[in-house]
Amino acid sequence: MRANGTGRRGLMLVLSSPSGAGKTTLSRALLAEEPELTMSVSVTTRPPRPGEVDGRDYRFITDAEFDSLVQSGALLEWARVFGHRYGTPRAPVERALAQGRDVLFDIDWQGTQQLKAAARDDLVSIFILPPSMGELRRRLECRAQDPPDVIAGRMARAAAEISHWPEYDYVLVNDRVEDCLADIRAILKAERLRRPRQPGLVDFVRALAP
Ligand code: 5GP
Repeated sequence: MRANGTGRRGLMLVLSSPSGAGKTTLSRALLAEEPELTMSVSVTTRPPRPGEVDGRDYRFITDAEFDSLVQSGALLEWARVFGHRYGTPRAPVERALAQGRDVLFDIDWQGTQQLKAAARDDLVSIFILPPSMGELRRRLECRAQDPPDVIAGRMARAAAEISHWPEYDYVLVNDRVEDCLADIRAILKAERLRRPRQPGLVDFVRALAP
């Protein structure tokens, strides 16, 4: 959004995929390897799953708290997914971008469209596809955190989510996690080098060739 003193301009990296395509694993690995990247922690009205930590995976909030965030304009985007609401708090994102840091978002296609409308030039979006629907089901079942009816619901929604792949800048198939991670890092590297994201170049070139 804004450039900081060092001339770095933060970008917004969105990862979307149907549930179970490996996005959470990819996000964690990416954050471990990219120190300039900050995760946007969403708020949600869905209950925590076993092992999820409040403030790390999500901020788990009530419907009334969600309403008040929407009303006060504190969310950059929000959407209803699987009967619950999910949203991106605005302040931490704006702070990170102003400091020249990049922000990673794990949000669905509805949220991606809203961010695109608000900040197209800062947005880089990647859609992650599973290698097959059979593999997607296997991954959802292995996760064993959701009851069978929830898994069935997620499989039913997966096809609908996948239909939004053409709205993304990049599309990757997550066959091997290491390969997919390397591709995401290559995208991030190239996008950081785009001319408009290096505002310091103007002065640099002026001094180079006055
Ligand atoms: P889950 O319940 O499996 O953690 O997430 C369900 C879906 O909600 C995923 O597709 C995830 O990307 C999406 N999601 C998580 N946080 C947000 C958010 O803040 N905004 C939007 N639009 N989608 C989100």
